[in-house]
Amino acid sequence: ARRTTTGGGGATDELLSGLLVRGGFDRGSCLSRFESAQYFKHSPYAPPSAYLLRKLRAYEARHKKCGPGTPLYAMSVERLRSGSGPGAGTETEYCNYLVWLPYNGLGNRMLSLISTFLYALLSDRVLLVHVPADFADLFCEPFPDATWVLPPDFPVANLSDLGRSPEQSYRNLVADKKIAANTTAVPPWVFLNLCHEKDVDELFYCGADQLVLAKVKWLLAFSDKYFVPSLYSMGEFRGEIHRLFPALESVSHLLSRYLFHPTNSVWGLVTRYYNSYLAQASRRIGVQIRIFDFARISADDMYTQILACSRQEHILPEIEAAGNLTTTNNSTAGSGTVQHDTTAILIASLYADYYEMLKLRYYEHAAEGGVRVSVFQPTHAKVQVTGQRGHNQKALAEIYLLSFSEELITSGTSTFGYMSASLAGLRPTMLYSARQHRAPEPPCVRMVTMDPCQHRPVSMECQANAVTKEDLARHVMTCEDEGLGIKLF
Ligand code: GDP
Repeated sequence: ARRTTTGGGGATDELLSGLLVRGGFDRGSCLSRFESAQYFKHSPYAPPSAYLLRKLRAYEARHKKCGPGTPLYAMSVERLRSGSGPGAGTETEYCNYLVWLPYNGLGNRMLSLISTFLYALLSDRVLLVHVPADFADLFCEPFPDATWVLPPDFPVANLSDLGRSPEQSYRNLVADKKIAANTTAVPPWVFLNLCHEKDVDELFYCGADQLVLAKVKWLLAFSDKYFVPSLYSMGEFRGEIHRLFPALESVSHLLSRYLFHPTNSVWGLVTRYYNSYLAQASRRIGVQIRIFDFARISADDMYTQILACSRQEHILPEIEAAGNLTTTNNSTAGSGTVQHDTTAILIASLYADYYEMLKLRYYEHAAEGGVRVSVFQPTHAKVQVTGQRGHNQKALAEIYLLSFSEELITSGTSTFGYMSASLAGLRPTMLYSARQHRAPEPPCVRMVTMDPCQHRPVSMECQANAVTKEDLARHVMTCEDEGLGIKLF
């Protein structure tokens, strides 16, 4: 059932009802960790389940014990460097690791990182993050007294150039009979391709293969997608995911608020912009317009679609008919006594067209009910740039600015939009992508769950122990915006 509680933020709950811990962090080095609660407008799943909180605290202890800089880490790395021979400790003393390798745009990366972290929780591993230059200075350390950054002397060389199907990928190891269900001697590390397409390690989602992978000390996960719905669809993890997240749609919402804390440089962008342009409004509406090449339509058609959607779902303020200026009279100019409703519309897009058109709309027409409408857009880069730190920082700032809205209109299929809704803790209204380059009808749909869509899920035919069809029907649905995708609800 939908829970509509709002306003769980505020200075009094800066640790998000126990999701975050205070100890082990230096406040000044990561302000967003302590300040973001003041900006979020919805916290529908606060407090999180006691079981999730226990699991996170246990994870933090494991990370502190096994993370870079600890003797256990040094021992495991030494063992990796020297092949699989036994090291100084007994088998049980070793920790198991999961190294995340980033790929694709920022929204994709954040969603895949959430999924990879959930897998680390479910498989008792320690999550480490390979941070190439473009991914540096975006996020603070999420775990107390520890680092999640993979040290540069990690023995597997050229992590950014392994490609999709290195010799060490699980499918190649299986094909070359270097790993099998009954082997006890497993390779020291295994690469997993958990991306959208091409050479995907689909066996990862099979129960028998999970038992094999559990023996491997180092897993390297190369991923650009949200794969939580597939984890849920595995018999092995279903029960645990339910216990952690009694409301399944909250997985990405809670884990994104737990893991992601923009660094002070990004937080500076966010708070300067918010406080200068958005804070004064009584209501904020985020509008994220992403135009994919496969669904490109003219700016005019897109604008028409936005307005049609807004009218259908009653989101943006409507305008008075021409000549009717009764409600925004100038009687209060300078008096300072009458409080008007003010709505700030925040646009995030690579293009400036929608900002220009919406601004003109409310300049030329009075909004109904005397609402004062202002329109803002922080950047319009024109072209998508991935792999540049400055661009990623601005993209991250915009994802956060959107997430501080009371309402969101996002673009279907866009992981950028999924992330802003997950952080915001709300179900956005999603614009359908154009088909055959024509504006879609209906223009948009209101989401029934805030869980992001897993595009192109793998087939689960290997699952003897799979979740029953009835359970899947109750909790996994076809995405509203992607006929081939699945999401949790
Ligand atoms: P998706 O392609 O929409 O699923 O989202 P991604 O975040 O994975 O990739 C798109 C990339 O394009 C982002 O990471 C940004 O670098 C850039 N981008 C797309 N839309 C915007 C926007 O509204 N603002 C900014 N600053 N960058 C954007």
